[in-house]
Amino acid sequence: MATLQQYREQRPHWSYSALNQFFNICSLQYYFDKVEKLPKAFTPASLAFGSAYHRVMEWVALSRMQGHQVKPQEAADLFQDLWGRQVEEDGDIKYDDETDAETSAKLGRDMITCAVSGFDPEEEVVSVSEAFCVPLRDSTGVTLERPLLGEYDCVVRKAGQVKIVDWKTSGKKWPKAKAGKDWQPTAFLMAYSLMRGVVPGFRFDVVTKTKTPALESHETSRTENDFMRFVHLVKLADSMINAGHFAPSEQGFYCGGCPHQTACKTWHVAKTRTVVRMAA
Ligand code: SF4
Repeated sequence: MATLQQYREQRPHWSYSALNQFFNICSLQYYFDKVEKLPKAFTPASLAFGSAYHRVMEWVALSRMQGHQVKPQEAADLFQDLWGRQVEEDGDIKYDDETDAETSAKLGRDMITCAVSGFDPEEEVVSVSEAFCVPLRDSTGVTLERPLLGEYDCVVRKAGQVKIVDWKTSGKKWPKAKAGKDWQPTAFLMAYSLMRGVVPGFRFDVVTKTKTPALESHETSRTENDFMRFVHLVKLADSMINAGHFAPSEQGFYCGGCPHQTACKTWHVAKTRTVVRMAA
């Protein structure tokens, strides 16, 4: 079985996060990242923090799969260590006004302690960080040019029921409807059903970045109709990208943490010059 990185290197592809960036974050940011492949001016603190958090959760889940129940303190210590390395590796992390490397280390320790303390001992870990690559077919049976790639954080089983679990960190509690609307369960459940012929359950395990972190589980499910709609969205994104339709989403929430703010400021100038030249 290939790793996510190996799948990524094999051919152009779609991922849930790319589609989410294109439609829900900012299609111009997608353009700078995925088409122009501009270097990022900085690493958003949330991205660096999420990486360290995921690495610890991955280690905890692998340990559980091998029959070792990790103590919260052990996992918190690992976070401290990995966070230190993450800060050194990234070097250019951009924090918000209220956080820095030290406060993030404490927060991460508390969040990992919260996550590990909340594990269900009756849940068996079936796989950890399992990558997938599946073809996308529309309702007429036509296979899209780019396959869908992704990686399940963790697959668990309890009382014979299989469930994909995705680990998330969040500044605040999720609204109740969020899991039902998110495209990640749609992408992941569709991939799983294409690979194994069954649609399992799906759960987000969200730990809040609050003074006293809280663990919330958000269960959700999807149907064939959701899968068809997802593929249709991918087709739409393909046609918009081929036509060069990228637009800034400057009234959204994402500009402050966007690493392409400089390129964005002058994007329209280059566009205007091109249009004027064409008109001349
Ligand atoms: S700064 Fe805002 S509008 Fe510009 S690319 Fe980034 S997210 Fe999009």
